Parts: sequence; C-alpha cells; structure tokens
Amino acid sequence: MQELADRLAEVKERIADAERRFHRPPGSVRLLAVSKTWPVTAVEEALRAGQRCFGESYVQEARDKVLALEGRGVEWHFIGPLQSNKTRVIAEWFDWIHSIDRLKVAERLSRQRPAGAAPLNLCVQVKLSNEAGKSGIAPAELVSLARRVADLPALRLRGLMGIPAPARDFAAQREPFARLRGMFEELRAAGLALDTLSMGMSADLEAAIAEGATLVRIGTAIFGPRRGARPV
Ligand SMILES: *Cc1c(COP(=O)(O)O)cnc(C)c1O
Repeated sequence: MQELADRLAEVKERIADAERRFHRPPGSVRLLAVSKTWPVTAVEEALRAGQRCFGESYVQEARDKVLALEGRGVEWHFIGPLQSNKTRVIAEWFDWIHSIDRLKVAERLSRQRPAGAAPLNLCVQVKLSNEAGKSGIAPAELVSLARRVADLPALRLRGLMGIPAPARDFAAQREPFARLRGMFEELRAAGLALDTLSMGMSADLEAAIAEGATLVRIGTAIFGPRRGARPV
C-alpha cells in the first residue's frame, strides 16, 4: 500500500497544478485533510508528514480524536451535519465549522463558545442539488441566514461550503461550484467580509479550484477508501 505521506504529497501536487492551470495565485487554496472514520494513528501519520488541518464529521468520534491529540497543534474543522443537542463539543474544541444551515445551531455555538477562546470560524452550507436528504440552506434563504449569523458574538462568518451531486464530466462538475461562487460574490458585494469558499473533494478538487475554491476538503485521496463508512 502506498504511504500516506506519498498520497498527501500527490494531493498537494494536484492542488498546485490546478492553481497554475486556472491562474490562481500559488498557495491560495488550503488543504483540509478529512480524517473521519480513520483512527488517531492515521491523523498522527499525516501530522508527521506536515499536515495541520483536519476535518471530522461525527461528534463522538471527533471528540475522541481531539482529546487524544490535545496540544499537538491541530486545527480542527467540523464538516458534518450537526444536531442542536450536540453543539457543545464543537463549541469547546473546534476551530471551524463548515456545515451551518440553521440559525438555532449557530446561536447555540455562540452561547457555548468558552469565554476567552478565539471566535469559532464558520461557513454556511448551501444546498447545491435537489437530492432528498442533502444538507444545506436553500439559496433563496442564504442572505438572511448569513446576515443573522454574522451578527452573533463568539462566531466569525468566513464563507460558504457546498457539496454538489457527483458528476464525472469536468464542465458538469464546474457548474454547481460556479453557482456557489456567485452566491459568495453576492454576499461580499452586500458587505459581508468573507474569505473562504469551502468546495471540492477527492473527485472534483480541480473543478472547484477552477471556480475559486479557497479550501478543499480531501479524505479518500489522502487516507484511502473509507471501509464501512457511515453515510455522509
Ligand atoms: C467525507 C467528506 C469529504 C471528503 O470526501 P472524499 O471524497 O473522501 O475526499 C469532504 N467533505 C465533506 C463534507 C465530507 O463529509
């Protein structure tokens, strides 16, 4: 099996290639390593290879890893759906959350963020396809949610996140990312100081970078296929 460090280097090369190809400044796209379903030892291996930012999707699993790696300089991002009764772990231990699609969850995170902690960075997740069960706020409701979230103390609204339905063809991959970028530009034009467009995964990171992604969330291409993975 190929070493994790080699796969990580390959992903960085894909990002750098896409930055060149689509005239993005070098280093303008951050890599979030999505470690959900992988054990602490896998995160440690990636840490040794120089990766610092990790994404998790399940609260209990995330909590175990955060506690096991406390003090190791990891920047933790929560990217999964979040029930409002599970917000405390995220408010107390995470640096970022990408999956805000309800005001109630944001309000709880704001109340539960410990005094003296840096603001919790967040992205609002936008629904990009009409598949039943997909998380995210409807585009028509985005502006009002973003404005209300931006006003909450202890949080810092950084941008938008989206997960399109899978598509093989490059042009078809770009289309929903272009729509998300359009919404991002609209919010900026309306005065919100956003700097993060969280889009692109293992299978479509080039299309996302072509459309302006500033952060890609990569699991499989770094850690390998998830065995017995729970549904996202
Ligand atoms: C699992 C997951 C990813 C990583 O997907 P890969 O295809 O394994 O790269 C990215 N974003 C979210 C929200 C996820 O849940």
